[in-house]
Amino acid sequence: MTCRTVTILGATGSIGASTLDVIARHPGRYRVHALSAHSRMELLAAQAAASQAPVVVVPDGPARQRFIESWQGGAPLPQIRVGAQALVDTAADPASDTVMAAIVGAAGLPSALAAARSGKRVLLANKEALVVAGALFMDAVRQSGAELLPIDSEHNAIFQCLPHSGAAAGQGPAPGVRRLLLTASGGPFRTRPLAELEGVTPAQACAHPNWSMGRKISVDSATMLNKGLEVIEAHWLFAMPPERIDVVIHPQSVIHSMVEYDDGSVLAQLGQPDMRTPIAYGLAFPERIASGVGPLDLARLGRLDFEAPDLARFPCLRLAFEALRAGQGACVALNAANEVAVDAFLQGAAPYTAIAAIIETVLEGAWMHAGNRLGSLEGLLDLDHEARAQARQALSRSRPGVAG
Ligand code: NAD
Ligand code: MG
Repeated sequence: MTCRTVTILGATGSIGASTLDVIARHPGRYRVHALSAHSRMELLAAQAAASQAPVVVVPDGPARQRFIESWQGGAPLPQIRVGAQALVDTAADPASDTVMAAIVGAAGLPSALAAARSGKRVLLANKEALVVAGALFMDAVRQSGAELLPIDSEHNAIFQCLPHSGAAAGQGPAPGVRRLLLTASGGPFRTRPLAELEGVTPAQACAHPNWSMGRKISVDSATMLNKGLEVIEAHWLFAMPPERIDVVIHPQSVIHSMVEYDDGSVLAQLGQPDMRTPIAYGLAFPERIASGVGPLDLARLGRLDFEAPDLARFPCLRLAFEALRAGQGACVALNAANEVAVDAFLQGAAPYTAIAAIIETVLEGAWMHAGNRLGSLEGLLDLDHEARAQARQALSRSRPGVAG
């Protein structure tokens, strides 16, 4: 058994903390090389001390200062790298062979792409990277020979249910596969009267019935834009056309997703809704290791329910399918508009129902004419900035008298 050296981008987040939890269960099997965070420097310092990470990456000088002030005990400080370029360089740093890409949002794209380009094992939690840069990212994986393992629970489930010979994901549609079936919990507002959605609060939107996650993905789960992003993610990871990807609501979140074959067989992966299972799978692949997740008590669970998603309740899911069919430029716009709108909602500056409205307005732009900007990281980030500006304008138009 070789010892893997792991870098965690976004260590202080929900996925980052779960990754450190799994790693700590297997001393000798994994060594932490670098941890990054954008805020919460006290937590980063505690994580770096506990995992003996020799390197940390922080966004700027003040964060570096806070990290140093938070450092406790007699151990020498880790090397502190500062800034966006340091994050990209650390992702590609040959001192680690495995990178967990767990930054939230398109902000995680440059470092995730750098990891993919450097040919390492990439554990991809940051779904926005594939939504914004699907073709570019998958080309980088193929060219560098990186080993891409999906961590998003649905894609990890599908990966487990697909026939594979130890190869990474993204090698083309598997023979004999008819359809991918993504399950969705339906989030906290699955049964709430539609008229009440206008007034729901960020705390209510973040109170997911089954999963404990970061705030942005929790809101995305409430709107089901998360499932839309995951449809786009599945399209790129498994080279599946949109019409062969379906979504079914499964409120218990026990079946994490399914693969339907030409002969009528449907394979599913089940387990408790705990991200340590897909994280452990990605870390140890093709072996299996303990993750800290307990057994599934099916008799106690009693039943598994399913229903079709209601697109009137979840317009964001419809918008994501529309963006996927319209092309990469529209997917960039979908993601950017959503990040702006969700941020405004979380800050109390926009109602919940504005999220779908802002995305719909921004998607009306001519994103299919994005042209050659789709072929490079710089071009995609440029488009992302343009879509964010449009989303902010739409937001300020929807709130007359408030500066945008
Ligand atoms: P989170 O908000 O809990 O953590 C985000 C991490 O990214 C933190 O460490 C934060 O400091 C860092 N970060 C935030 N903004 C940054 C920036 N601009 N630059 C650099 N770093 C930044 O998020 P999370 O819930 O852990 O989700 C992380 C990613 O994993 C998201 O893309 C999410 O969609 C995906 N994901 C999460 C879950 C889950 O259960 N939480 C499940 C599936 C997929
Ligand atoms: Mg998911």
